[in-house]
Amino acid sequence: MVYKAVDLLEECKEKQCKISAIMRIEEAEAASITPEELDAWMLDVLEIMDQSSTQGLEEEIFSISGMTGGFAKKVWEHRKSPSLSGEFGLSSMAKALSTSEVNASMGRIVAAPTAGASGILPAALSGAKEKFNLSNEELVPGLYTAGAIGKIIALSATISGADGGCQAECGSASAMAAAALVELMGGAPEQSFHAASFALIHIMGLICDPIAGFVEFPCSLRNASGVMNAYISADLAMAGVESLVPFDEVVEAMYRVGKLLPESLRETALGGIAASDTAKALEEKYL
Ligand code: SF4
Repeated sequence: MVYKAVDLLEECKEKQCKISAIMRIEEAEAASITPEELDAWMLDVLEIMDQSSTQGLEEEIFSISGMTGGFAKKVWEHRKSPSLSGEFGLSSMAKALSTSEVNASMGRIVAAPTAGASGILPAALSGAKEKFNLSNEELVPGLYTAGAIGKIIALSATISGADGGCQAECGSASAMAAAALVELMGGAPEQSFHAASFALIHIMGLICDPIAGFVEFPCSLRNASGVMNAYISADLAMAGVESLVPFDEVVEAMYRVGKLLPESLRETALGGIAASDTAKALEEKYL
């Protein structure tokens, strides 16, 4: 199935509507349910996202392996201290870390688009909710738009770290979040795609190198940086900065880069940070 940004944009233009409106109808039809039933399902999804992104703020959550945990709580407690990222940035990173920790502890998360990158979209939506005083109902269009971006990447490239490196996982999640944020801020569909392009361009080439093969480190850090990537990408687009390369071509480029990555840099724990002496010692200890 070919699913391209260029076609989606054309449809938005024809129907004078947002990306979310098209995605909502398409997905309801695909699931043989009404759009209202799908909205209700999306609200449940947001509820799970809310739980996973806040669970680790007040209690330390450790992974099943025992190798990592407690980053979210540390960052949350630090949020009001003098910092460069500010309270909003630190809170968002803490929430992204929280979902990553819930995932590593085998708790319930929404894979958006994957478990490894599951912290980015919930943290970004929570940030929008707080910043613009939105209800969960008002966040639902953001989820649809995020879904459209994820669908385009999944159908024309890959969202798998084993296939295309971390750019395909955390990059896709940031692109999904960036496009959603633009729509929630009142941006046009074109601006959502510019934001999604920026998010992928910012981290193009990012390898997948989880220590000991556990989806923990550097994964949780990349979720924290992924939400900040989504914010800056959305803000760039809202400021009127445009991607010289259309989103479909950015996705193709990301896929080509992913295919060029050697196997050692695609979730095998044989390269990158996972190949360091310390990582190897940790592997010995925790595997
Ligand atoms: S480093 Fe690999 S396993 Fe970890 S989040 Fe990125 S793609 Fe997923």
